[in-house]
Amino acid sequence: MIAENLQRVQTRIAKACAQAGRSTTDVALLAVSKTFAADAVQEAFAAGQHAFGENYIQEAVEKITVLRHLPLQWHCIGPIQSNKTRLVAEHFDWVHTVDRLKIAQRLSEQRPAQRGRLQICIQVNVDGGTTKSGVAPEDALALAQQIAALPRLQLRGLMCIPEPATDFSGACAVFTRARQLFDAIRASGIPLDTLSMGMSADLEAAVASGSTQVRVGSAIFGERTYPPSRA
Ligand SMILES: *Cc1c(COP(=O)(O)O)cnc(C)c1O
Repeated sequence: MIAENLQRVQTRIAKACAQAGRSTTDVALLAVSKTFAADAVQEAFAAGQHAFGENYIQEAVEKITVLRHLPLQWHCIGPIQSNKTRLVAEHFDWVHTVDRLKIAQRLSEQRPAQRGRLQICIQVNVDGGTTKSGVAPEDALALAQQIAALPRLQLRGLMCIPEPATDFSGACAVFTRARQLFDAIRASGIPLDTLSMGMSADLEAAVASGSTQVRVGSAIFGERTYPPSRA
């Protein structure tokens, strides 16, 4: 089931790449395993998937620990409170949701010396909801410059989670704003290579707009059954 779903998602990505004149190797697939047990991750790994995204830190650390014998890459894609930065710095390979310097500084200070740098994407609030996570687009460049200077972090790119759009072109319009910001920060001399956007419902629009990494959960693992109560 998971293997077939993964295949279907890979086919969707390949088609979207072909339509956009992009190479399939330009878009990585992050399998979002939040709420699913370690068994499901293992099944996806057996089908060739290596990179997994998790939102709830405690839940993630349990899975990471159980599966530490496998060569998996773990991405934190959920909001991070200050009191959770140490767990994130110790257990994850990537963080997609940095939107404040204070969190970045703590992650850098707490990254264990024996591990490589923690790979970072800045979350940008591209569609401007006032209650949403993410740095305002106009503040993203300044934050990128500050994070790029932190010793134990490697700034890789931007991430966004726009509100679901009503149609393809509406989704593309919002994703394209993220893409333009990504290009502008690169043009300023910061070498970003990752634009993390697109989920099960809108990965085609994200790929058409320049995404280099789609984060796909339900299309691989099925519908999630328990609510996101654990942080
Ligand atoms: C849950 C989640 C996803 C995956 O969502 P699906 O709609 O299940 O593909 C992607 N990104 C983030 C940040 C998420 O929280």
